[in-house]
Amino acid sequence: MSNDARILVVDDEPRNVKLLSAHLSSDGFEPMGAFNGTEALQLATSENPDVILLDIMMPDMDGFEVTRRLKADSMTRHIPVVLVTSLDGSGNRVKGLDAGADEFLTKPVNRAELLVRVRALQRMKQMQDELQNRKKIVSKIVDEPHFDSKNQASILLVEDDERLCKQLSDILGAADYHTVRADSATMAKEVLTHHLPDLILLDRLLPDRDGLSLLDEWKADDQLKALPVIVITAVNDLERKIEGIEHGADDYLIKPIENNELLARVRAGLRRSSTQRRLLQDIEHLKHNTVTDRLTGVRNRQYLDADLEHRFAQSHRDLQRMFSAIMLDIDHFKQINDQFGHMIGDTVLRRVAQLLQETARTADIVTRFGGEEFCIVLPETELDTAQGVAERLRRVIDEHAFSGVGDGHITVSLGVATFSTSDNIVTDLLARADAALYKAKEGGRNQVCLTSTADSGESGSNSI
Ligand code: GH3
Ligand code: MG
Ligand code: MG
Ligand code: MG
Repeated sequence: MSNDARILVVDDEPRNVKLLSAHLSSDGFEPMGAFNGTEALQLATSENPDVILLDIMMPDMDGFEVTRRLKADSMTRHIPVVLVTSLDGSGNRVKGLDAGADEFLTKPVNRAELLVRVRALQRMKQMQDELQNRKKIVSKIVDEPHFDSKNQASILLVEDDERLCKQLSDILGAADYHTVRADSATMAKEVLTHHLPDLILLDRLLPDRDGLSLLDEWKADDQLKALPVIVITAVNDLERKIEGIEHGADDYLIKPIENNELLARVRAGLRRSSTQRRLLQDIEHLKHNTVTDRLTGVRNRQYLDADLEHRFAQSHRDLQRMFSAIMLDIDHFKQINDQFGHMIGDTVLRRVAQLLQETARTADIVTRFGGEEFCIVLPETELDTAQGVAERLRRVIDEHAFSGVGDGHITVSLGVATFSTSDNIVTDLLARADAALYKAKEGGRNQVCLTSTADSGESGSNSI
């Protein structure tokens, strides 16, 4: 199996680097070695590895310090760090998690556990890289959005043991987390239908089901798969741990649960999930900005082009899929600007967009074509119906009293065209709608004109 993932192995003992590297390359990973903290930091920056395996005990700079520096630098913050420790005390783990480490391995390192951990972290890193990438691409088009910082985190506790449940919710509550409890798999599913937590603590053995099969379900669900899950298990054996990770668990806790370790693991899990969620939100926000016209809030030209392109291809494949387009232009808009100023002009544009949106049918797509022109796409709509919609739009604007513009009377001219198989490109359709619009202007404005598809030229003027 080839992974192509590059793993930085850091240890002051060359034999350890060699051993771990051998395990990794035998599984298709590409290892590289560093023998002290300074070297590790350099390689992390220059090579951007997918995962870093880091020894804790090193002479010049220990693993905790290296981790802190990696996580403080925006160039390396996203790289998952696995601390390799011969000291298995929970104090060290807590210290490591607080420094920002993502995982632990205990020396002597077990090959199977090493590979499972590295694979899981590699998947996480790839997902974050992909999100970062997409964000960079959209960021080029629009400004970076601003987001509020996160409020109190909510944790779902899926645990049937009353006493343990109370212990956990007391500690989490004292640390200011909001906890929701479920004492069975059935109840957990029920809770998740109306509440999306930030993290889940899942008991491996539930009265009605095996926790891991429940985990499988969550990881296959688009809504839930990004949620960090920490599995609680009573059995401290390696096989079980590996099993949990392979089912997509982000971490595990072993009973009896030590309070500090619980808090440190929860903090680490939340830190990871909030990074991912923030990236996803940013992308959503950026996406919204790229398809929305800033002034009027309706879809922009970029969206219109993409939408028409899609429909056009679809209708060519399936002639049943008819669609129409209306080009609309505000009459004598230049005079409105000249007489009342640009600000009022802008207000009128916003109001017109709003009226079009309210008047058009739900499936119709109102877009700003540019300046004082709008294009409305009417899916699954024939010419005569489109004409009816256009006429209704014209009337609503004609009858609306616009404030700030003299007598408040504004009119629009509209041209309607329907998809035709003889159209070669989308602009053929838009050209016909535009020709009809021109005719409406020529005919005296405040009217709807159309082109029939039959002769693909303009015809059939229709002034109210
Ligand atoms: P017609 O009835 O023939 O369409 O006349 P018109 O005055 O509406 O057409 P013309 O194309 O001459 O003028 C359009 C005006 O729209 C000119 C331009 O300054 C103005 N305009 C375009 N975009 C905006 C905008 O975002 N805000 C404002 N306030 N005005 C705009
Ligand atoms: Mg060492
Ligand atoms: Mg105009
Ligand atoms: Mg115009």
